[in-house]
Amino acid sequence: MLSVQLRFTEASIFHFSSLTVSLQVHRRLQLASTSSHVSLPSSSSWRRATASDSHSETSESLERRWDSLGFNPVKTDYIYVMKSSQDGSFSNGNLTHYGNIEIIPAAAVLNYGQGIIEGLKACRKQNGSILLFRPEENASRMRVGAERLCMPAPTIEQFLEAVTTTVLANERWVPPSDKGSLHIRPLLLGNGPVLSVTPAPEFTFLIYVTPVGNYFEDGLKPINLVVENVIHRATPGGVGSIKAIGNYAGIMKAQAEAKANGFSDVLYLDSVHNRYLEEVSTANVFVVKGNTISTPALGGTILPGITRKSIIEIAQSQGFKVEERLVSVEELFDADEVFCSGNAVCVMPVGSISLMGKRVEYGESGFVVSRQLCSALTNIQTGLTEDKMGWTRVLNTDIN
Ligand SMILES: *Cc1c(COP(=O)(O)O)cnc(C)c1O
Repeated sequence: MLSVQLRFTEASIFHFSSLTVSLQVHRRLQLASTSSHVSLPSSSSWRRATASDSHSETSESLERRWDSLGFNPVKTDYIYVMKSSQDGSFSNGNLTHYGNIEIIPAAAVLNYGQGIIEGLKACRKQNGSILLFRPEENASRMRVGAERLCMPAPTIEQFLEAVTTTVLANERWVPPSDKGSLHIRPLLLGNGPVLSVTPAPEFTFLIYVTPVGNYFEDGLKPINLVVENVIHRATPGGVGSIKAIGNYAGIMKAQAEAKANGFSDVLYLDSVHNRYLEEVSTANVFVVKGNTISTPALGGTILPGITRKSIIEIAQSQGFKVEERLVSVEELFDADEVFCSGNAVCVMPVGSISLMGKRVEYGESGFVVSRQLCSALTNIQTGLTEDKMGWTRVLNTDIN
């Protein structure tokens, strides 16, 4: 067996050596929700660091550490691992200490990219409790992706229980509400051995979490995009509409070039006409013109973002007309605002787009629409406003 080293920014935020870790065992998990209720089997026991594990450091220096959060993986306390059996069902999921995983060299995921990622976040409310945002959407999106890649996937209930268990076990890594969030990364991997191109005989579902800072330190800072004419993110009939792990290595080159040229990211066009907007590397795109907000329609090459879906609903509830359709690149010259959406960036206004040798700038109006939608969404995610949509799930931490 080969031991795969996952490289991490070594817990630059916390130093574990200074901790006296006392673990509270067999603590029952409870998941309450404003919208729905998930009760966990009584066998669901777990371990976590308690509040008494707090650092010998002063609260002032802890505060500084939260302030230095970026978007790099941090070694947290626990990961969740669940394996499939012969019939493709998953069982016996467990928390284990955060560390390297073992994988056989002939694993389908290493050789042929049979794997799916998901991404969601947990936010801390001002009162200390923790909120998940639409996690059942991630669960079902992973199932759709798994079906496309000939993989079995955990049930929605298993996914929710696993996410809840993992977040609560790593509870001390959830930043205070104004400092960031806990990024949750579920993976589904074909880890069984294969030699020819064929689905793996075994699969692993794994979750790790890492605290991340807020994207916008000093309010919303618009990003500068460049339209890519040569490299495409997705093609019709391909796997662009699912979070297949292989989708991301292919865009690193275009993104690296864009960054080297001073841009924040790349805006991709459709691969057939090279004319219609697709999305930014890992975020969906929206174009605002008057009271109408347009975004590329799903149905093949666009990743169905949960933030995208939420923004569409919020915008409609605020009286905007939302159109999901082909959006041509020419419309960028005429737009009032452009923004992108994703669970990491929330809603990110676009300050400029470079295309066809020109640079279009936005923001004269102060990104009113982007800001309005961004705060409506983040207020729901962080529990600042009442969640009338029923999107958030409160994790009962009984820490307070
Ligand atoms: C994850 C992802 C998004 C955003 O999806 P959310 O569910 O909103 O986080 C958009 N585009 C791509 C390519 C992605 O991988």
